[in-house]
Amino acid sequence: MENSYNRLKSGAWGLRVCGDKPSPGQTVEVTRRDGTVRRETVGKVVWSGPDKWHTGVTVHLCTIATADSSTTGAEDTTNTLCVECGSRRATTTAPDSSGIMGSVCGRCARLDPMERSYA
Ligand SMILES: [Zn+2]
Repeated sequence: MENSYNRLKSGAWGLRVCGDKPSPGQTVEVTRRDGTVRRETVGKVVWSGPDKWHTGVTVHLCTIATADSSTTGAEDTTNTLCVECGSRRATTTAPDSSGIMGSVCGRCARLDPMERSYA
């Protein structure tokens, strides 16, 4: 039995973990429809019960922890202001004259590094 993705009642994608009940924060390997395996972090177990198709197998429906939301890029950049001019939305990162990395807008990113100073 392989772990798989399963749509939860909330409409979000969750995990269908077979066998032992997983703990929140535990990493499990999940097989996608196309056969590739991804590692996902368990959020919390929302349901446990007998498998519908496999007698004697217990399955656990779990939410997916979103601690790795950085991989989606959906957060952080939306409301980050440019550290150089402070007035425009930061779209990229660039070093200043001291070599400090900071989030800057597209206009400031085109400046020479020596012209930027974040501190
Ligand atoms: Zn700027």
